[in-house]
Amino acid sequence: MGKAFQVIDENKTFSSDLANYFKDGNLAESGLNYHLVSVFGSQSTGKSTLLNALFDTEFGVMDEKARGQTTKGIWMGAASQKSSNSKADIIILDVEGTDGRERGEDQDFERKAALFALATSEVLIVNMWESQVGLYQGANMGLLKTVFEVNLSLFQAANKKSPKSRILFVIRDFLGNTPLENLAETLLADLSKHWHSLAKPSPELENSKISDFFDIDFSTLPHKVLLPEKFSEAVDHLRERFLDETHKEFVFHEDYHRNVPLDGWPMYAGQIWEQIELNKDLDLPTQQILVARFRCVDIANQAWAQFNSDLEQLDAPFGTDTLIENFGPPLGSIRTKALHTYDELASRYTKTIYAENRFELLGKIDGLLTSYYRSQLAAIQTSVLAIFWASLSKRDPSVPFHKSLLAVEMFAKESYHAAALEATIDKDFYSFSVEEATFFDVLSSEVSKARKQEMATIATKLGKQVKRQLGAKLPAILTSADENTWDKVQKLMETEISAILVPYDGGSDFHLGGDAKDNAQGKGTVEKAAWAALDAQLKDYTREEWLMARLRDRFEDKFRYDAEGIPVVWTQGDDVQAAYIRSRDHALLLLPVLSSAKLQDGTVLRKPEHLSSENDDEIDYEELVDPATAESLRAQFKRFADTAFVDAKRAVAQSASH
Ligand code: GDP
Ligand code: MG
Repeated sequence: MGKAFQVIDENKTFSSDLANYFKDGNLAESGLNYHLVSVFGSQSTGKSTLLNALFDTEFGVMDEKARGQTTKGIWMGAASQKSSNSKADIIILDVEGTDGRERGEDQDFERKAALFALATSEVLIVNMWESQVGLYQGANMGLLKTVFEVNLSLFQAANKKSPKSRILFVIRDFLGNTPLENLAETLLADLSKHWHSLAKPSPELENSKISDFFDIDFSTLPHKVLLPEKFSEAVDHLRERFLDETHKEFVFHEDYHRNVPLDGWPMYAGQIWEQIELNKDLDLPTQQILVARFRCVDIANQAWAQFNSDLEQLDAPFGTDTLIENFGPPLGSIRTKALHTYDELASRYTKTIYAENRFELLGKIDGLLTSYYRSQLAAIQTSVLAIFWASLSKRDPSVPFHKSLLAVEMFAKESYHAAALEATIDKDFYSFSVEEATFFDVLSSEVSKARKQEMATIATKLGKQVKRQLGAKLPAILTSADENTWDKVQKLMETEISAILVPYDGGSDFHLGGDAKDNAQGKGTVEKAAWAALDAQLKDYTREEWLMARLRDRFEDKFRYDAEGIPVVWTQGDDVQAAYIRSRDHALLLLPVLSSAKLQDGTVLRKPEHLSSENDDEIDYEELVDPATAESLRAQFKRFADTAFVDAKRAVAQSASH
């Protein structure tokens, strides 16, 4: 562990660098797996020498020449060795300058150092010469009296349950003439006397015994200089009592532990020292809670920072609309890692505080991850829908549309579910069921959109077909212009529309898996196309020039040609007048027929109810040609017919004169 570290200096200043010392010594991660030992005793009684021998530490040892020089302060070292039976770190506080002398300044430090050691340590080593045993007024007894006093005020005043500590007397330069039992007896008797003479802070404590608060223990060491080998042997034995958990005289006990995780120890100890320096009452549980709060927040921040830097390392466009491959597992692992970091350090602190801060940390992490996950779900949705449309456009035309559609829809659902599941960050993480339900809704509206598009494609195609059919058959009917014309038109409309819809059950099922409304819409499109074809034809056929041309045709067909289609050559005796009247009337029959679409039952041709619209340029079947136009046509035609009649008459007259 290297050089010792001065935790509290001679000016009673607590080092601000202790946390770094722990870090450098890899102690910060020890958690609760450590023991704390303090050493007290008169100056130059070989304390530091003993510690260095026991724990391989490097506490400063006073050399012979400088003997008597008093330094004050508390030094820290850590045991270098570990035993196979103990994995715990041992931290040692070497308390310098506690002589138990009744002097002002010294006594103040002694008291404060005792308080500090008791607030932190599990085992207090009291180092003394054998020759000091039994010296009632001796330095160490004064020190122990202070320790007892401090202990009573520290743990009893606040009415808190006292953690027990062990006081281990190490009797140095032990000669062996007086058996240890006798020395121990003497020491215990002295301790009892001191205990009884102490003013107890509360009546319940009047009958208390030392053993209620301390386990008293003894050990001896031979003279280091005179018997170096024996000394070293004894030190080896003593060391086992610190390192070997299975040793029957193992010095530590779980009841002694102050339960402050080592990473929180610098703060804890610093606060304790501050309270001591301000001569305030020490309330250890409160201090522990304060440390727990502070440390848990600190550790959570550390975990959060680590999480964020890990997140950056992943270098993916989280939270955007980009679909991220291999989304869940890396995020899951950095989430787990962050929680693990937190748990490892923070779980050693007060459970409720640990839990509170974990909840908060998890909230922050999952808040962010949930927003990322939702973005990913949105990206999954977009991509699945794109695939949906792409596969639909590439579908096998030999498979009925509704079958392809169903297959593609099922595939989209499965793909979404699988992708969302794969993107899941952790088992206990946000569930995508709400997003999936939303996706299903969106998908089903896309499915009906696809169906409508297909319907429109089919209906448009059928519409074109029906239009072609009508275009071929309507002219003959319209130009025939007899009393049945419009009944024939109506019949034609019906039969052509029905014929085209035969493969689709008369338009009630286009085999797209759509509902009645969808089918009705498809049928409507076909009907509309058919009626639009009729309307277009009628618009053409009711133009003035066209009508005029047809009137002339009809007249000339009858007037200039005979029944066999041979041109008539007028000769004498021909009844030109009768032919003229017949031909004229035949021609003029066209006008009333094409002027108004009257059926034989007297009603007017009508589009089916559901096809008619409020449109202004709708064709008015009742008045296809307005009366003024009809009148003007009649007059024009009359002039034309009259000319033909006069010409014919003239031809007859000429034939007579030859
Ligand atoms: P500390 O002030 O109690 O820490 O004492 P040190 O460890 O600095 O030792 C003070 C002096 O006592 C040094 O000169 C040591 O060589 C000497 N010393 C160390 N161990 C023993 C021991 O077991 N017996 C005696 N008599 N002297 C010792
Ligand atoms: Mg020393």
